[in-house]
Amino acid sequence: MTDVADSPSIRRLSEWDAAELRTLAEEYGSPLYVLDLERVRQNYRRLAAAFPDADVLYAVKANALGDVLSTLHEAGAGLECASAGEVKRALEAGASGSEIHYTAVNPPAGDLDWIVDAWEDHPALTVTAGSVDTIDRLADRGYDGRLCLRVNPGIGAGHHEKVRTGAAAKFGVPAERAVDVLADAADRGFDVVGIHAHVGSGVSSDQLDAHREFVARMGDLARDVAGVVGGLEFVDVGGGFGVPYHEDEEPLALESVADATRDALGAVDARLTIEPGRYVVADAGVLLTEVNTVKDARETTVVGVDAGMTTLIRPAMYDAYHPIRNLTADAAASSGAGERETVPQTVAGPICESGDVFCADRELPVSERGDSLAIGNAGAYGYEMANQYNSRPRPASVVRGDGDVRLARRRETVADVMRPEREARRTSVADRKTDDPRATDSDNDPVR
Ligand code: PLP
Repeated sequence: MTDVADSPSIRRLSEWDAAELRTLAEEYGSPLYVLDLERVRQNYRRLAAAFPDADVLYAVKANALGDVLSTLHEAGAGLECASAGEVKRALEAGASGSEIHYTAVNPPAGDLDWIVDAWEDHPALTVTAGSVDTIDRLADRGYDGRLCLRVNPGIGAGHHEKVRTGAAAKFGVPAERAVDVLADAADRGFDVVGIHAHVGSGVSSDQLDAHREFVARMGDLARDVAGVVGGLEFVDVGGGFGVPYHEDEEPLALESVADATRDALGAVDARLTIEPGRYVVADAGVLLTEVNTVKDARETTVVGVDAGMTTLIRPAMYDAYHPIRNLTADAAASSGAGERETVPQTVAGPICESGDVFCADRELPVSERGDSLAIGNAGAYGYEMANQYNSRPRPASVVRGDGDVRLARRRETVADVMRPEREARRTSVADRKTDDPRATDSDNDPVR
């Protein structure tokens, strides 16, 4: 067995077995997410080995598939959750309250109701609040459990302006107010356990100075807070560890990031906590899609595929680069049929939006209708951000692990897309007939 802590720091798309991926697309249909749980385990272990003195909480939002959560929980990770639904998933994956942090960002009332109920059964759960209002709303519900404060350190970093959260007014209490807010929370009976910030997502090695500056501020703040509230259990510096999406990009120097983090934090009598998401799952996943159209447009060749911005939104939303490989062309080349010529191609999905393109004018082997393409580094924020725009059902997901491959989530159908509407129609007809109350408590439960 591979020593997972020494596993390669990136699995490139070219290293996936083309024949196996094509077989999966034939068997399970297209588009299809494929996730390798062994790679998820390797990525987690490598991170945990680089940060031996830290608690590692996997950020569930990157990929909330039950198989991913149970794999990481078994490997020793805690789980950081962004909603009541994610907390429910974490509990179902076997995590105990003490292994779960719920980070509340302008939390809907239903989420807080559900979390406070869950806390009664799991009192070791930690809630991270990012505003005084959230603390008040927790108190209104009788919550006086473990409380962490999300602060806004005023420093952002990351691969795109939309993921640089550290300085965005939306997130956290301004760091300079944190001591007062936590002193007040402690007076009100909350169990103040930590401070938290997340500067952004996709941070690269060349942003280490910003990372150092941010962690140093967190260290200073932890010392100030500890002086007032009498000690903290942890300082959570969030996630954001970047992965190389471009084929020629170097992977993050994890050891340097870990050293910089430890140095910058300085002496604090609290455990370091990190919340990686992308780093754990990105290169463990690929998205398979089939070519259905090849069109010579005026200025480029457009290659139409059956996955789109509803399947993987990152290129449309963040201008994100994802490697693309023509599995059919690669298989033909390795069986001796010769290499296909490469030409600039624009790979576009079926959504009626000009932004629905995976790449523009990229040099790829000439595409043919029916070819199977693989889009790499699709394990993080891929399926999680998939949606049903244009009434497109979401794709299936298969997982590979423990020597076999199995369906982890079936493909949605148009009936799934229409179900809430049809059910509402049926309910209102029944209401008219029976005078039943329109909405029961369970109708309003967000995680029923
Ligand atoms: N923690 C928090 C609070 C976040 O908002 C995020 C991502 O948005 C993460 C952790 C994980 O970030 P990444 O996937 O870049 O590691």
